[in-house]
Amino acid sequence: MCGHGGGAALAHNGGMNAPTLDAATAAPTDSSGPRQVRGACPHDCPDTCALISTVQDGRVIRVQGNPEHAPTAGVLCTKVSRYAERTHHPERLLQPMRRVGPKGPGARFEPIGWDEAIALAATRLGEIAARQPEAILPYSYAGTMGLVQGESMAARFFHRLGASLLDRTICASAGSEALVHTLGNKVGMKVANFADSRLILIWGSNSIASNLHFWRLAQEARRRGARLVCIDPRRSETADKCDEHIALRPGTDAALALAVMHELIVHDWLDHDYIAQYTLGWDALRERALQWPPARAAEVCGVPVAQIERLARDWGQTRPAAIRLNYGMQRVHGGGNAVRAVACLPALTGAWRHPAGGLLLSSSGWFKVNKHRLQRPDLLGERRPRTVNMSTIGDALCHPGDAAFGPRIEALVVYNSNPVAVAPESPRVVQGFAREDLFTVVLEHFQTDTADYADLLLPASTQLEHWDIHLSYGHTDVLLNRPAIAPLGQSLPNTEIFRRLARAMGFDDPCFADSDEQLCRQAIGDEQDFATLLAHGFASLPVPDAPFAQGGFPTPSGRCEFFSQRLADQGLDGLPDHVPNHELPDARHPLAMISPPARNFLNSSFVNVRSLRDIEGEPLLEMHPDDAAARGLQHGQLVRVYNDRGSYHCAVHLSQRARPGVVHGLGVWWRKLGPRGTNVNELTSQRLTDLGRAPVFYDCAVQVCAAEPLAESPKP
Ligand code: SF4
Repeated sequence: MCGHGGGAALAHNGGMNAPTLDAATAAPTDSSGPRQVRGACPHDCPDTCALISTVQDGRVIRVQGNPEHAPTAGVLCTKVSRYAERTHHPERLLQPMRRVGPKGPGARFEPIGWDEAIALAATRLGEIAARQPEAILPYSYAGTMGLVQGESMAARFFHRLGASLLDRTICASAGSEALVHTLGNKVGMKVANFADSRLILIWGSNSIASNLHFWRLAQEARRRGARLVCIDPRRSETADKCDEHIALRPGTDAALALAVMHELIVHDWLDHDYIAQYTLGWDALRERALQWPPARAAEVCGVPVAQIERLARDWGQTRPAAIRLNYGMQRVHGGGNAVRAVACLPALTGAWRHPAGGLLLSSSGWFKVNKHRLQRPDLLGERRPRTVNMSTIGDALCHPGDAAFGPRIEALVVYNSNPVAVAPESPRVVQGFAREDLFTVVLEHFQTDTADYADLLLPASTQLEHWDIHLSYGHTDVLLNRPAIAPLGQSLPNTEIFRRLARAMGFDDPCFADSDEQLCRQAIGDEQDFATLLAHGFASLPVPDAPFAQGGFPTPSGRCEFFSQRLADQGLDGLPDHVPNHELPDARHPLAMISPPARNFLNSSFVNVRSLRDIEGEPLLEMHPDDAAARGLQHGQLVRVYNDRGSYHCAVHLSQRARPGVVHGLGVWWRKLGPRGTNVNELTSQRLTDLGRAPVFYDCAVQVCAAEPLAESPKP
C-alpha cells in the first residue's frame, strides 16, 4: 500500500490559468523538478481511486492515492501503486506495427509509421464497409473505465461506419439487469455509511482483493461492534477476517436468500409497514419463500441448517444491517435471479430506513451521463445494425453468417480488452481469432494474447498520458484524469487514433474534430462544473443518505419490485427463484470450478508487471486436500484440469480455501505466460445467464488429474 507522501507540492499539469486540454499534445515535456498531477484510476474496480502521480524528468516516478479524496483516503491497492512500473515497462508498445508472420503465439511484427498504419486500416475497413458495414465488429470493455478513452470517439467512428453493435455483457450485465428489475436502477447505499452498520453481509466478494476501500469501512464498522459475515464458496482473504464464513456451493445464492426470507416470515422479523408502503408483490414472494425452509436450502447450498438459521436471525434482528454484494455471484446460470433474491432482503426488514442499512451492488445508476452526446448514435442515420454479444465472441467469429446471424464477421477492432485471454471458452475464441480471412486491429499497451492475432497493432497511451472523466460503481464521485506525461514513444490516446481513422475514411462530421477537453466537458454534461474538476480533481453527487427510507425506488411502480411485471411480460418468472447451474458436477466432471481474480491482477491487466507476477507466483488451482488425496495429487504438482471444452495446465495448491468438491482457478493469467499456453478460460463455457445475456464463468464442471508428460498430452 502507499499513502500520501512525497515532498513535491501538488501542482496542476498544464497550469490552472491556461490549461491545454488536447490529450494528444497537452502533457508537458519539461524537465523541471518534481511535480504532482491529479488523476483517476482507470481500472474495472468499484473504488475508482483518485491518483496523484509524481513526475520527474518526463517520467512518472510514483503513483499514490489522493488523501483529499474521501473514498480513496490516500491509499491505493498494490496493483495500481505499481502503475508507473506498468507505464514505463520495457515491453510497452511504442510504435504502430504490422504483423509479418503467422497469427498466434510468437507472432512477429514490423514497425510502420502512423500514416501507413491508419491508411492500411482505413483501406481495409473501407472495402468491407462499402459491401457490408455490419461485417465489422468493434470489441471493447473496461481496460479503461474512462468515458472519453472508453466510448466516445470510438463509438462515434463505428456508428458513422454502420458497424455491428457490441452487447457489452462480459462482467456485470446479469446483476445489473437484476437490480434494474428490483430496485429500478444500479443504485443503493452510499458506501461511506457502511461504517455505521451493525451487521454487514459481504456477499460474493473478496473485498480485500477487489473492493479494498469498502473493506476499510467494514473494518471501521467492526471496530464499533459490527458483525461481518462473508458469503462466498471460497474461503478468501476476506472470509478469513470476517466473524463468520458461509461457504455455499457456487450458484446457490438464491436458495440461501430464499431460506433467509422463509425464516424472516416464520419468525415475523419483517417490517410490515415498509413492505406495505414501499414494495410490490409481497404476497407472491411470501408464497415462494415459504417453499424454501432452511433444510431444503441447506441441501442445495451444502451448508448447515443452523448456519442458515443464524444468518436469518442476524439479518432479521440487527439494525442497521447492510449487504455489500459484488458481481462474482452473478457469473452463473441463475446469477440474475440470485441478485434479485438478495436485493429483496433489505426491503423485507425495512433496512433501507437507516443510512447504514440496505444494499450496494453498484452505484453507477446515480450518475446521469448523456451517452448520446458522447457516442452519437444519430450517426447511424436510418441504419439499425445487428448486436453481437461479446460473451460469445468465440462462436460469433466462427459463425459463417446466415439470415439470423447476419454477415460473417470480416474485421474486428479491439481496444480496452484482451478477449483471447478473458473471454469464455478460449479454444473457440482462439479458433475465431486465428481465421486467416479475419482482419484484426488491436489498440494496446502490450503484446497481449489478443495482440498476437492482430494484423495491425496500434500503441495506445496509458492513463498517465491522456485526459479522461471517470464515474464509479462503488461511490458517487466524478473524477477528472489529467495526463501526467506526454504519450510515450508514438503511442496515442484512443480518441486520437479514432480521430485519425475517421479523417482517413473521409468522415467530416464536426464531432470528429472534438478535442479531448471538449469530450471531457461533454461527458460530465451539465451535472458537474468542469472548473471544479480542474481545481480539485473530483466532485461528489448529491445523493441522499438513506435514499429509499420512504420508498421512491426508480422502478415503474416506485416500489421495490419483488414481483417484476417487466420480466413477466418477457415470459420470464416475475419472482426471484433458485435457478440451478448449467453444469452440475457429475461422474465425468465431479468438481465445480470458479475462477475468481488473483489478488494482484485485475482481469488480465498487470499480469506482465514482473513485481506483481512474482507475488502471484504461478497459475494455480486451489483444491481441498481431500479432493487432492482422492486423486493422488501433491501440493505444487502440475495438473491438467479438463472438461469437454479443453484442458488447462497449472499447479495444484492444496488449500483449505477450497471446500470439498469445489476448485478455484485463479485468473486471469495470460495464456502465453502459463504452462503449455493455456489459462483458466480454456474450460469456461459460452452459455449465458438467466438475465442480462452474461457469461457463466463460475458455472463450470471439471475433472483434475496429474499432467501427462508433454509429448503424451492428449487432446480433450
Ligand atoms: S484498482 Fe481499485 S483499489 Fe486499486 S487503485 Fe484502482 S480503483 Fe483503487
